[in-house]
Amino acid sequence: METVEHAQVEIARLSEELRRHQHHYYVEAQPLVSDTQYDRMMDRLLYLEGLYPELKLSDSPSQRVGSDLGTGFPEVRHTVPVLSLDKAYTGDGVLQWIERCRQRGEQRLSFVVEEKIDGVSLVLYYEKGLLARAVTRGNGFVGNDVTPNAKTIKSIPLRLSRPLDIAVRGEVFLPKEDFNTLNGTMEVPYANPRNLAAGTIRRLKSSETAMVPLKMFAYEASFTNPTEAVHSHVEILRLLKDLGFLVNPSLAVFADADGDGTYGDIPDYLGKLEQQRSTLAYEIDGLVIKVNELGVRDFLGYTGHHPRWALAYKFDAPEAQTEVLDIGVQVGRTGRITPVARVKTVKVGNSMVSNVTLHNQDYINLLELAIGDTVAISKRGDVIPAVERVVEKNEEGNTTWQLPAECPSCKTTLVRNGAHTFCPNGACPDQVVGRISFFVGRQQMDLDGFGPETVSFLVDKGLVHDIPDIYTVDYDALVGEPGFGEKKAGALAQAVEKSKEQPYRLVLVALGIPDFGKKAVDLLVNAGIRSMKQLLEMVDSGDAETLVAIKGFGKKTVDSLFAELSDAKVRERIARLILLGLQFSEAATDAEEMLPQIFRNQVWCVTGSFERFAPRSLALKEIEARGGRTTSSVTSKTSHLLAGSGAGSKLQQAQSFGTTIVDEQQFIRMLEGGESDDSR
Ligand SMILES: [Zn+2]
Repeated sequence: METVEHAQVEIARLSEELRRHQHHYYVEAQPLVSDTQYDRMMDRLLYLEGLYPELKLSDSPSQRVGSDLGTGFPEVRHTVPVLSLDKAYTGDGVLQWIERCRQRGEQRLSFVVEEKIDGVSLVLYYEKGLLARAVTRGNGFVGNDVTPNAKTIKSIPLRLSRPLDIAVRGEVFLPKEDFNTLNGTMEVPYANPRNLAAGTIRRLKSSETAMVPLKMFAYEASFTNPTEAVHSHVEILRLLKDLGFLVNPSLAVFADADGDGTYGDIPDYLGKLEQQRSTLAYEIDGLVIKVNELGVRDFLGYTGHHPRWALAYKFDAPEAQTEVLDIGVQVGRTGRITPVARVKTVKVGNSMVSNVTLHNQDYINLLELAIGDTVAISKRGDVIPAVERVVEKNEEGNTTWQLPAECPSCKTTLVRNGAHTFCPNGACPDQVVGRISFFVGRQQMDLDGFGPETVSFLVDKGLVHDIPDIYTVDYDALVGEPGFGEKKAGALAQAVEKSKEQPYRLVLVALGIPDFGKKAVDLLVNAGIRSMKQLLEMVDSGDAETLVAIKGFGKKTVDSLFAELSDAKVRERIARLILLGLQFSEAATDAEEMLPQIFRNQVWCVTGSFERFAPRSLALKEIEARGGRTTSSVTSKTSHLLAGSGAGSKLQQAQSFGTTIVDEQQFIRMLEGGESDDSR
């Protein structure tokens, strides 16, 4: 039984806890507790405040539905408040809500069930069909204007197919696969895709937002002047699709066919979707059930907190508690040190977890994690398991775990760079194993037989110190060593020989240059830099400009490429691989070789619009097919600007640099005559 004294103490404690969690959740996008736990605390506080209104603190966190308001972004008032949804946690709860709607609605209703995407809510305001503002949910009444960042999200149309005044609600999210790839490169990694999406949408530089492949599903719309005849939610979704939005195709409509108040088997359907959850490409944390008929929605209206015509059916996040037995340290191929928690094996969702990455020291400090602590581990779908928080501190008095001062593999003193810690010794055995394992990996050179044990064996034996050594080992001489039959030795020798045929693009990826993966390699080669020789010449002459001008290339990629290729050890590695016969250039394709290479050694930029070259990429292809390089911006290295009608600032820049300016007619004559204009 509650006593006033107990309630007062608990209200004070809950208020303080919740205020702290709100800050971590909404402002820092790094929550310390699960949603379920947070909801429970908030529900408990609301209950106590309801019981003893006089005890409610004047600054109670329950007064905010929750806010993501942060500094750095202008605040904007929503034209229609963005309310949260009432929640149900069971199928029965959903059926009771349906019955309430039916009794109030007094007519045959249909219900739409949609996935509740675990992302970031955004409201997009369009004026005459143009995106005017993108505003976060904020506290529901006032949000932050993040328009420049939203504009980088490709599934958000900048212009609608019709000139409507319309407010569109959607959920911005990051697919699980992209999250797993990206999170490894983050300074301070995120526990889940939603937090990464939330952090990304609030970047101060929209160019940083643009690097993350966020998407948005649109799911609701309201009109300033109701010119469109829509009568149901399904019609709204159809309209959104017509206007150019990405609409989640996973949707079910339940109608009351017999007029007896039964709607097929909604609870069965909810259960089925919850089962399928882990197979989806993105995270969902529940389902949303809405009244389909818009007229009935108006009639049902709102409570003070939420619409009466919609309900969130929340899943419990798959989470389990276990004990941290030990914390180990892994040394990556770049020397990066990653602490990994070894935990008492536990089932989380559908999988058994015994190792969980802790990313870096900052992450551990944030959790205040020590060996022996009991922790909550989450694993959502295909996402890598994460320690969400410490549930109970250890009783042995262990304090927050600290990285060792020395590399566990080579005993070199570790150094810190940004949020991460590195072993600076390039000859460190663990790094060598990591570098070679990456090189031979399936996604890279794909050498059969070179599993982790084989690579470690070769390194431990002292036969291999760096990548090129795998090409010089006498594998036949190893026959008789544990695990080395004649067949195995033959297979290794053959795999090594075969890998010399692997194309330049793969070799370049396999070298494992930081921030320089398959996508960046494709951009580089497609821009006409087809050989290592060309690339090294650029590095040696300090020509970063040409690389930065390649569309899709960030400065970070270029810096990393320059740093790596300026390293004497890396240069030696490459020189040896060239001598060993690996592919370090890519020939132009047959079609290209048949064309006269009139633009060789030239750097072209294309701007404005054209009659014959629409889209503009057609002109870029013509240039590249004739040996020219193309860039997206004009720099002092740009030799030619192809200027179509409406050419703007690039034309002025080209004039200031003295770049040769070519119009469409001249360009066509150059292509047809096969002669280059060398009047520069
Ligand atoms: Zn080391």
